[in-house]
Amino acid sequence: MSLPDGVERRTFDDEERLATRGPTVYGEPTDGEWRAWDARRSKLGAMLEKGIDTGLAGGDAVLYLGAASGTTVSHVADFAGPTYAVEFAARPARDLLSVAEDRDRLFPLLKDARKPEHYAHVVESDLDALIQDVATRGQARVALENRQFLAEDGRLVAAIKARSEDVTAEPADVFEDVLADLEEGYEILATERLEPFHDDHLAVVATPK
Ligand code: SAM
Repeated sequence: MSLPDGVERRTFDDEERLATRGPTVYGEPTDGEWRAWDARRSKLGAMLEKGIDTGLAGGDAVLYLGAASGTTVSHVADFAGPTYAVEFAARPARDLLSVAEDRDRLFPLLKDARKPEHYAHVVESDLDALIQDVATRGQARVALENRQFLAEDGRLVAAIKARSEDVTAEPADVFEDVLADLEEGYEILATERLEPFHDDHLAVVATPK
């Protein structure tokens, strides 16, 4: 499996875990400058743990949608380059601001990911990666509306939560519909369910078409 530069497997309490180098955020175990990345608390962590080829590389310029209080995006900012983190809920965004105080490559934006025109003046274009974990209805639409920020060979790395689209439908049917919608603007490169780390979530790696 190829991990982005800046992400390593290290041993914490006799257990091999993914880790990045940076200040702690959520009480995760540390080993010197390294801090464990908990795949059960992070869809992106689960993707890397499962060996999914995300195409992410150290130093990438990233737009991260659905940053919440910064658990995952803090690890991203540890290995990536400029990392723009969009979150629209005020409460988690407060925590995100304090996570960003310790990280000079992390730029929190208290914005709605369905309205990219509200942050287009701040976020650079030709980004290497769009990482999405918004857990809201219309996840394909959010990815399509933010495709404008990606370079031609950039990557969408999305965690799609079935129950956010429809609580009653079969997750497999929901994923089929979301993928069909995504194909309006993306070529799908890989998909994989995130069990046992996250139930009823689909990892999607795609590139703009
Ligand atoms: N990615 C986070 C992590 O791993 O640390 C967890 C994200 S949580 C599952 C989903 C987040 O997306 C919530 O904090 C929610 O407020 C945010 N969200 C949902 N819809 C959004 C939107 N339209 N714009 C911005 N944030 C949104």
